[in-house]
Amino acid sequence: MTLTLVTIPCLRDNYAYLVHDPATGATAVIDVPETAPVLAELQRRNWRLSDIWITHHHGDHLDGIPALVAATGAKTHGNAADAHRLPPLDHALTGGFTFAGQPVQVIDVPGHTLGHIAFHLPAAKLAFTGDSLMSAGCGRLFEGTPAQMHDSLQRLAALPPETTICSGHEYTASNIRFALTLEPANTALILRSERVANLRASGKPTVPVALSVELETNPFLRTRSAEIRASLNLGTAPDATVFAEIRSRKDSF
Ligand code: ZN
Ligand code: FE
Repeated sequence: MTLTLVTIPCLRDNYAYLVHDPATGATAVIDVPETAPVLAELQRRNWRLSDIWITHHHGDHLDGIPALVAATGAKTHGNAADAHRLPPLDHALTGGFTFAGQPVQVIDVPGHTLGHIAFHLPAAKLAFTGDSLMSAGCGRLFEGTPAQMHDSLQRLAALPPETTICSGHEYTASNIRFALTLEPANTALILRSERVANLRASGKPTVPVALSVELETNPFLRTRSAEIRASLNLGTAPDATVFAEIRSRKDSF
């Protein structure tokens, strides 16, 4: 399936994404931090918004939804389990659905919030991960446990490595600075650090990014790395223990 993907900077460091199917005209937005930049992009491309997909209930991911619904009539999709703290849902999700005739898998990824979900489009090799798996990092644990977030990230890490990961924030540069404290000799990380610095210097987003790159550089997916384990003095600890220690160090980085 050939879908067009558009990354839209919003607020200070958030992203919304558009996916558009040229064949049917179907267009979805994933998270709506604010209305105006999303409407402007739709108008510029002359696309009619059909779907709004919500990853989780935080305001910086959905505050723009009411005005966007009023302007477009697009249908909201979000986790049925979190319906009480989401805008009114046209589609309260308890599983996958279809977009432009193709399956959309809904993956439960609790940790940042308990009702957080990710959207995976296997045919287009796209995944929208919000504040679960993030570029070179992961979301803070506001509601879930480290074990829950570790499990959630393992589910995402198991997607095909060529999957494009679209996450919710521009945090890559600081995430990489932290990652380098744990794995200063990781060549892929050092090279990514240079690429990210160049992108930021020219004002470009560092997202989306291939899962294969995350697997090589994101410490939260690298709990088996000997270098990370040595940095943490956790030589033979369980993966979930290593994950929890990385998350706790990042919280105070
Ligand atoms: Zn959030
Ligand atoms: Fe957020």
